[in-house]
Amino acid sequence: MAYNIQDKTIVDLRGALDKKEITSEELFSEAVNLANEYQEDYNCFVTIVDKFKSKKKKDTILTGIPYALKDNFSTSNILTTGSSNILKDYIPVYDATCYKKLKEAGAILVGKTVLDELAMGGTGTTGHTGLVRNPYDKTRQIGGSSAGSAAAVSLGIVPFALGSDTGDSIRKPASFGGVVGFKPTYGRISRYGLFAFASSLDHVGTFTKTVEDAAIVTDILKGEDCHDMTSLKDDGKCYHDIINNDISSRKLFYVKEICDKELYKDINDSNLQKILDDFYNLLDKCRAAGFTVEEVSIDNKLLQAIYPSYMTISCAEATSNNANLTGIQFGPRGQGSTPEEIIFDARTKGFSELIKRRFILGSYILQKENQEKLYLNACRIRRLIVERMDELFENYDGMILPASGGIAPKFDDTSDKLSDRYLILENHMAIANFGGYPSITIPYTKIDNLPVGVNITGRKLEDDVLLNIANKIENVTGYKGNWRDKDV
Ligand code: GLN
Repeated sequence: MAYNIQDKTIVDLRGALDKKEITSEELFSEAVNLANEYQEDYNCFVTIVDKFKSKKKKDTILTGIPYALKDNFSTSNILTTGSSNILKDYIPVYDATCYKKLKEAGAILVGKTVLDELAMGGTGTTGHTGLVRNPYDKTRQIGGSSAGSAAAVSLGIVPFALGSDTGDSIRKPASFGGVVGFKPTYGRISRYGLFAFASSLDHVGTFTKTVEDAAIVTDILKGEDCHDMTSLKDDGKCYHDIINNDISSRKLFYVKEICDKELYKDINDSNLQKILDDFYNLLDKCRAAGFTVEEVSIDNKLLQAIYPSYMTISCAEATSNNANLTGIQFGPRGQGSTPEEIIFDARTKGFSELIKRRFILGSYILQKENQEKLYLNACRIRRLIVERMDELFENYDGMILPASGGIAPKFDDTSDKLSDRYLILENHMAIANFGGYPSITIPYTKIDNLPVGVNITGRKLEDDVLLNIANKIENVTGYKGNWRDKDV
């Protein structure tokens, strides 16, 4: 192959295009060839685009760069399934704002990626076209819900992809796939055209190989959108320009109740012990690089309530948001002689067990007699967690924690990661969705050649500061460029 794009970043490819070492048509066909070549083994895509199309309106750093979109972003005239049987033939008539912006910036869509059905789930195994495999080890999950996007960037099929993140759906698979996963502040990127899962928690974000590339893509995507009333006015900053700013006055904290080694000392899990050892080594490297890093405490009761309150809020919102999936407006028509029968039939056949369970939970939570006790209580817990975080952010610029307590799980993993011991370590990233904080996962170590990520969450609206901090940490991990030494 004349030009291998697999180990290239956006910055590398921009250079190659500018120097005319390759054309954007060649880049596109290289990416499509890779997408097809890896499809059988890894199943990243629901749809692979077959024709090079540029609708560029202006020249940007992304002009001519191939990318992939999670299949819950509406793309007019291109199948958009949400990886659900209930939308298996759905072709939208309008574009998500992100897609429109990327088109106008000249980026070239290569394909729509597999997700956990309707973005609910964290395994990458529930999409209607089959499960997604981890590029580092085919017998393992890549995680989800943005599974195909994570795997496509991890395999080097595309240098960037978009995902959505309601609880951790970008930042968890980024950790298991050895790539950078970034979700900016709530509202920084328009959600118009993204299938709504839980609107108060949903974020659009990026998968890239480097923090610098995450800044580049976010610069193109951010800004106010009249179609999304939660979108933020553009902050007028160029994140790419400021990622190398000095960090020596920056202060980070980690949470004793989440990552203190004492908490886990009697668990017989050598991967977890190594994750924590390497995490504390990384903190030392951060200190040596100029950061102040300190330990803080958060009430354990609040931390233990993250997962149940996340589930309560997200299932309730998901049930209301997905009420339009009736088998009447979209998707395969249900059978029956009354609207109720038609809807019942379409949903029985269209949704998998996991989704049905969540809708049942959501309906229960939303029942009038349960709303106060369940939904509003979860919202109160959410507010208490956010208040504690805001208090900490008065003194600190970021929170740093391992993105996960383990390596990518095997497909047949039956370990109970919802047990009390793992509950907080596996689910703390939803804090960033509760508060709308910008949050990023970058690779920081490997265990048996499997990547593990560290997560950094910043102050609301300060996406620039977070990217600046993450860029510095990426340089001290020793794992920048991790994606290059994969055997696929
Ligand atoms: N794994 C979480 C869930 O199952 C997060 C999903 C997401 O962020 N879309 O709800």
